[in-house]
Amino acid sequence: MTFDELGLLPELLRAVSDQGYETPTPVQAQAIPIILSGRDLLAGAQTGTGKTAGFVLPILQLLAPDANSSTSPARHPVRCLILTPTRELCMQVEESVRTYGRHLPLRSTSIFGGVNINPQVKALRSGVEILVATPGRLLDHHQQGNLNFSHLRFLVLDEADRMLDMGFIRDIRKILALLPANRQNLLFSATFSDEIRDLASAFLKSPANVDV
Ligand code: AMP
Repeated sequence: MTFDELGLLPELLRAVSDQGYETPTPVQAQAIPIILSGRDLLAGAQTGTGKTAGFVLPILQLLAPDANSSTSPARHPVRCLILTPTRELCMQVEESVRTYGRHLPLRSTSIFGGVNINPQVKALRSGVEILVATPGRLLDHHQQGNLNFSHLRFLVLDEADRMLDMGFIRDIRKILALLPANRQNLLFSATFSDEIRDLASAFLKSPANVDV
């Protein structure tokens, strides 16, 4: 299996080869076609398996027709929300979005707690298609009126088991209630407790399963 055989756009194939990746990892080979087909996904994958590119590449591909080189914020509504448990993962995932999206005019930013909120407000006002966030700070921004999810098409819960371990379940449920119902949902978790399965069945619609 090659990245080419996954049917990725030339802009994404270039980004992947810029990184020196030769072949998709198992989670990428399985998840990318499922996500491109528009289905919800429940994926079991540890860190280090290449799961980030496994969801970022197909999302970038599906958002590419909406990419807009205009600098007007109104032309860059949030279309994808990626929730992560920690600020480190949040920054790392957003870095991956930038890396894999470098040849496409899609914008991203990361928002997480423990730092001044004002630069994040500025970034949100300038318009971003892809928002990577930790749950608490996302809700702070929502309360301040800095977010509009009316164009949202994708929701990713990354390391969902760690999010539950860290007590984010109530925040996640509040966030789910803010999003338009018609969207594609992806859940990645290293482990599967009853709590994760409950969360998955609460918001994934007939998901495909991937386990690596
Ligand atoms: P992740 O599991 O998403 O945190 O990725 C783990 C590491 O694998 C990251 O440093 C990626 O840059 C790298 N990586 C992701 N996909 C590939 C690939 N197809 N070939 C080689 N390295 C990869």
